[in-house]
Amino acid sequence: MRGSPIDFSIRLQAIRERIGHAAERAGRPPADVRLLGASKTVSVEVLREFRSLGLHRFGENRVQEALPKVEALGSGVEWHFIGHLQKNKVKSVVGHFEIIHSLDSLGLAKAINQYCEKIGKGQPVLLEVNVSGESSKEGFNFQEVEKAVKALNDFPRVEVRGLMTVPPHASDPEFSRPYFRLLNGLRNKLEQLSGRPFPELSMGMSNDFEVAIEEGATIVRIGTALFGERPPVH
Ligand SMILES: *Cc1c(COP(=O)(O)O)cnc(C)c1O
Repeated sequence: MRGSPIDFSIRLQAIRERIGHAAERAGRPPADVRLLGASKTVSVEVLREFRSLGLHRFGENRVQEALPKVEALGSGVEWHFIGHLQKNKVKSVVGHFEIIHSLDSLGLAKAINQYCEKIGKGQPVLLEVNVSGESSKEGFNFQEVEKAVKALNDFPRVEVRGLMTVPPHASDPEFSRPYFRLLNGLRNKLEQLSGRPFPELSMGMSNDFEVAIEEGATIVRIGTALFGERPPVH
């Protein structure tokens, strides 16, 4: 365990307060911002503790890790998928996750649409945008998104609700601000061009969520600041 239930309670309350203050600074109602616990590597036991403290929205990155957790926690939890999704894993995710934040290719959209047709459902998604253009990042390039939105008309069961991004890692949250602002501007432009609403902006993590809220985030994905440091990845 990374901390005791008391630590969890203090951390959760502190994050909620910081979210509220950031929203106030931006003149937004705090309820406009949803807190998503980015729960990769976090055990089912810890997630249960957080759920009992009132956090009931979790985001997972990997299908293999997510499915047993979804199963174990049962209903009363809203699951989001926030990692790169492989086409051959679409069946395990569609219909089980409230929003897929990481739609990063038209091939994936096609696979989701096909499976949705088969099961007679729609799947809310966010388009992941690589705002910084880093080659290591998943997502549509900034310049590609407009075309992608048009192409997605062919996949009507893929319900685009907004955009998601992960800016370059930086210790100073102010470095993230221009990327968040770009994403918000892009969203506004896409709404104008398509005549459809894209209300959700999934942006901001432990280090920069307050800046993200000031720039319009509706979902912040917070891991470390809630659950503690993750074990190093190998
Ligand atoms: C891990 C992860 C987060 C949370 O990162 P922290 O810095 O631990 O808050 C957010 N979004 C995605 C896509 C992640 O993989």
